[in-house]
Amino acid sequence: MAKRIFVTATNTNVGKTHTTLQLMRHYADQGLRVCAYKPIETGVENHPVDAQALYGLMRTLNPHAASLHVSDVVTFTFALPAAPYVANQGRLIERTRLLEAATRLEAHCDILLIEGAGGLLVPVDEAGMMIDLIPLFEAKALLVTHASLGCINDTLLSLEALQNRQIAHEWIVNLHGGDNTFDRISAPYFNTRFPGYFRTDQGLEALAKALIN
Ligand code: GDP
Ligand code: MG
Repeated sequence: MAKRIFVTATNTNVGKTHTTLQLMRHYADQGLRVCAYKPIETGVENHPVDAQALYGLMRTLNPHAASLHVSDVVTFTFALPAAPYVANQGRLIERTRLLEAATRLEAHCDILLIEGAGGLLVPVDEAGMMIDLIPLFEAKALLVTHASLGCINDTLLSLEALQNRQIAHEWIVNLHGGDNTFDRISAPYFNTRFPGYFRTDQGLEALAKALIN
């Protein structure tokens, strides 16, 4: 089995895809074979935007993935830009199909990056939430958090959810798109409470190492 990393965030649009692409480049630079997987993508009118970005880079970085198609990178797509539970009208998402897709991909890689949809407590169906897919995939979690006002609360809530379920995880503050007040408004708390925490303005190298240890 490849090393599996499940990339989640405090919310949608916080930087899961961007961080996943960065990590793929980083691991490929280390000589590792990378694949990416988006189990469920919503808001798909014609093309799955996230899955195509992941697939495009995967094909560039990993010659072993040449036989794969974008449909290997995303399993369920829905048109409504909503939680899967809503976009799929409450129907069940077959977990076996998700696991089979991950197994198919990891025949071609050393590291499989799995991008969730939205945040951790996004409902998938009656059987569970996005956070429940992490132990299903036996993955380590990466929580990407934002840097704007409110990021302390959002970060702590997501960390608590991961800790409550005893899910191994790392987290990183994404400085992109913040309101430039992070160092004054939120960092003093993180600096004291979590010395050495990861932030994107310091690069991804240490995070990438921690994720595969
Ligand atoms: P997701 O919904 O959590 O997957 O969020 P995305 O990764 O799609 O990020 C939302 C938007 O912010 C996209 O337009 C990204 O390209 C952009 N973005 C997020 N993080 C960064 C970053 O660190 N640098 C740059 N340049 N763009 C970023
Ligand atoms: Mg995304």
